Amino acid sequence: MISTICVTFLYKGTKMGRNKQAVNHRPTHDTEREFGGTLGAVCIPVFLPLTVLFLIGVSQSPEASVFQWPPKLPSTNQLWDPLAPMLLLGWIGLHALLYFMPFGKVSEGLALRDGTRLKYPINGFHSLCVSAVLLMVLLGLRAPLGFLFELLVPLAVSAIAVSFLFSIYLYVRSFLVPSHALALGGDTGNPLYDFFIGRELNPRIGNFDLKYFCELRPGLIGWVVINLGMLMKEVELRGSPSLSMILVNCFQLLYVADALWNEEAVLTTMDIVHDGFGFMLVFGDLAWVPFTYSLQASFLVVHPQTLSLLKAAVIVALNGVGYYIFRKSNSQKNQFRRDPTHPSVSGLETIATATGKRLLVSGWWGLVRHPNYLGDLLMALAWSLPCGFSHLLPYFYVIYFTILLIHREARDERQCKAKYGLAWDTYCRRVPYRIFPYIY
Ligand code: NDP
Repeated sequence: MISTICVTFLYKGTKMGRNKQAVNHRPTHDTEREFGGTLGAVCIPVFLPLTVLFLIGVSQSPEASVFQWPPKLPSTNQLWDPLAPMLLLGWIGLHALLYFMPFGKVSEGLALRDGTRLKYPINGFHSLCVSAVLLMVLLGLRAPLGFLFELLVPLAVSAIAVSFLFSIYLYVRSFLVPSHALALGGDTGNPLYDFFIGRELNPRIGNFDLKYFCELRPGLIGWVVINLGMLMKEVELRGSPSLSMILVNCFQLLYVADALWNEEAVLTTMDIVHDGFGFMLVFGDLAWVPFTYSLQASFLVVHPQTLSLLKAAVIVALNGVGYYIFRKSNSQKNQFRRDPTHPSVSGLETIATATGKRLLVSGWWGLVRHPNYLGDLLMALAWSLPCGFSHLLPYFYVIYFTILLIHREARDERQCKAKYGLAWDTYCRRVPYRIFPYIY
């Protein structure tokens, strides 16, 4: 979920297939193409990795200008460090081991097309805690975590290379599984598009679910580790971390901890239930999230900001409001989907659909059709504000994320319309705004 990529401008669906698939529940070769179809599938894997390297280069340059021409890309001798792939593979390997820790419960995913349900270990939060202990030990041993600042570009290059290699592996192995194991939208017969969007729905090696593993663990926890590295770099340079850096670290740690604490909720998201596992998700999980979501922290290393306590308090309040809306609305829907008779949701007004499922039309989901996106966007703004107003770069995340969520909302809307038909139209009439009340 965290990783679906912002390519709204490339979108051109063919309108074929979605309803048909919803009835047949079988992948077909006339499946609707998303993210710009073949053109998107060719351009995005070139354009987005370059964007990652460009943005890191800009964040670490004195000008930090995204409009600088020619664009500020890292020089070739900055791209490679043998330590980077070793660290990256070691990190992924560590989290693969932690995946098998006998902590936490085991949950079942939604029923698959063949009626079976897969089992998933809910121990991502434990992995975060173990990672935190290991980092504390490293800091206790005076390991210079600030070196992550210099290693950022080679690490990103390694993550991009791993994403390509891993996606090739996923594409090839998807030809060895039965057709019911393929994602509905991932078997168009166009190799470029299928490689990009992902053919297999739930690729597994034994019990190890590759998509579920990548979704919230190495990349997401890696993001907060990079942030910590930037904080330590600031300590190296200036003796102590700035208030701005502390806020960015704390806000983003809260977000990651929350995602892992509520890991079970990922089992019902579009990424797990609907999308195949291909380059789009792999690159998003392993490269895009850790290296672009940490841009504010790397920006602050080179561009220190002074922040008054009053401004900091306002920003903390904004993050708090965003988090409250995000968490409450997500929890309300999850609770309703798990057990609609639970006292916390049983009093809410709902409408019936032909599938037997009901849609909430009061509570958070009666305010706008995606209250969770509203909360997420308020938090995204709060993460940028500690970086001041002198540069656009720290606002990259909130701008990108707004585009991503508007695009995601449109994708979800099409899927809900296909699932619920007239009931969805009724819901849209009852709740006319999508994300921002009275605006959009
Ligand atoms: P959502 O949690 O918004 O779920 C959408 C689904 O909810 C619909 O498909 C439908 O599924 C159900 N639904 C919609 N309306 C209603 C209703 N009125 N009543 C009951 N059920 C309803 O999906 P996402 O995966 O997009 O988002 C999950 C969270 O992840 C959000 O908070 C989002 O902000 C965040 N996110 C973060 C990203 C990041 O990079 N940081 C990227 C993407 C998402 P059904 O009816 O089948 O249950």
